[in-house]
Amino acid sequence: MANRLVQRLDGAQITVIDPRRMHLYQPGLSLVAAGLKPASYVESDTAGWLPNGVTWPPERVAAVDAEAKTVSTENGETLPYDWLVVAPGLVLDHDAIEGFSPDVVGENGIGALYAGPEYAARTWAAASRFTEEGGTGLFTRPETEMKCAGAPLKHTFLIDDIARRAGNAGRMVYAAPQESLFGVPIVAEKVLMLFGDRAASTR
Ligand SMILES: Cc1cc2nc3c(=O)[nH]c(=O)nc-3n(C[C@H](O)[C@H](O)[C@H](O)COP(=O)(O)OP(=O)(O)OC[C@H]3O[C@@H](n4cnc5c(N)ncnc54)[C@H](O)[C@@H]3O)c2cc1C
Repeated sequence: MANRLVQRLDGAQITVIDPRRMHLYQPGLSLVAAGLKPASYVESDTAGWLPNGVTWPPERVAAVDAEAKTVSTENGETLPYDWLVVAPGLVLDHDAIEGFSPDVVGENGIGALYAGPEYAARTWAAASRFTEEGGTGLFTRPETEMKCAGAPLKHTFLIDDIARRAGNAGRMVYAAPQESLFGVPIVAEKVLMLFGDRAASTR
């Protein structure tokens, strides 16, 4: 948003407040979890992506005062604004999954690629054994709102493809509680067709 606005607005003062110094290229997690890229591929310096003319205090926002039109940071600074864009993302809640914790990722055939680069790499450690040994691969999608609804599908297809190329096509099961496999009908249809070609079952 800051990159777009700085190009379009003449004379605007643009500030990005975010404590995360390392930018996380999240679509790349799918590639790390399929062994196609190293974990380091997804992380880069946030400063490198910010255009000239944007101010970036690497701080956490503690409060917004919509009446006074100010934002306060955890270290006590108060910044006035005319326009505010709030984009804090989603909070992952792995503890809500009974019996699961990120600690088990990479062991006993368990993967979870959303938690970050290290977990995506550990997911590949588990998935690579599936591509070498075959067996039943159960791929899931949560019922809740999530980042990139396509990512579970991407991971399923990538692992299936790698296993097939190695001559170890396993039994693939894609478990998703949604009525459709994807929000865009033509894509959902294509996915169903591809699953049919691969004898992958859906739940
Ligand atoms: C595995 C995976 C694959 C994906 N693939 C794709 C894809 O192919 N195509 C696509 O378009 N998208 C994809 N996405 C989604 C995309 O990468 C982003 O995750 C998504 O768009 C959410 O971005 P966001 O900026 O809203 O949230 P986030 O990326 O979570 O960023 C939120 C930011 O807010 C900051 N923040 C939070 N609280 C505060 C606070 N109090 N004060 C200051 N800063 C705060 C955080 O530090 C963080 O930097 C994928 C995501 C995943 C996980």
